[in-house]
Amino acid sequence: MRIFTRALSLLLLLMAPPLSAWGDRGHRVVSSLALRSLPEGPRAWFAGREAEVCDHASDPDHWKSDKKEGPRHFLDMEPYGDPERLPHTLEEARAIVGGDYYRLGVLPWIIQDRWRDLVAAFSEGDPGKVALATAVLGHYIGDAHVPLHTTLNHDGQFTHQRGVHSRWESGLVERHIVADELTVLMASPDAAIFHRPWEWLQASHALVPQLLADDREADRTTAQTTRGKQRSQAYWMIFWARQGPVVKQQLQRAGEHLGDAILNAWIAAGKPAIAAKPPI
Ligand SMILES: [Zn+2]
Repeated sequence: MRIFTRALSLLLLLMAPPLSAWGDRGHRVVSSLALRSLPEGPRAWFAGREAEVCDHASDPDHWKSDKKEGPRHFLDMEPYGDPERLPHTLEEARAIVGGDYYRLGVLPWIIQDRWRDLVAAFSEGDPGKVALATAVLGHYIGDAHVPLHTTLNHDGQFTHQRGVHSRWESGLVERHIVADELTVLMASPDAAIFHRPWEWLQASHALVPQLLADDREADRTTAQTTRGKQRSQAYWMIFWARQGPVVKQQLQRAGEHLGDAILNAWIAAGKPAIAAKPPI
């Protein structure tokens, strides 16, 4: 019985989707870029709470013991056909792929839900809730900018590239990315912010073929020094040389889009001013 249980756990582990997007460092970077992009009105809400937003940016990855949580972090596009014609409602999604729609991921709809939470937090006037809602929204917006979160081949399992997911989103980020070296555009008002997640996902999806090709090329070039899952220094150099600009671009875009989402949530809530703290 125990052997059976162990075998089952191993099987489930092997079947499990990749743990996170961007890893902890990437999600922190996205949050800190977004806060830097804010104009004075919404920025005042985060004074002294910047670390709190970054500290909670990976929280949703720790909620995956709830079965419903996993698919909130991705959208597998291939079953829907043309990436330009993705369903914009869950009813449309169900009409195209049937009851499987949830298993294929619900990321854009979760971004909409968490954005509504942020509007509500601003309306309520509670800066603690605003910080937490921002961290959670930022997590999902960050995930939408990871190309491998938009494809069935999310870990290169169909192209003999297992592990490419974490090599790209954590391996490259942890070796090379420093938040202060990245720049971010100022957040801007956007009446269509609610519909942007689909555009972000389409742009991410377009990056998948080159990402996989660069991983294969880095592996081919360094094949003699590559052993099992461990990649050589040479592999990392080549993969970074090819994909480094893409990693930076996606982190910057995620930061900018989170900044836009925060600004527009604040506008939707009626541009509330943060209440002054009562004197002690
Ligand atoms: Zn995630």
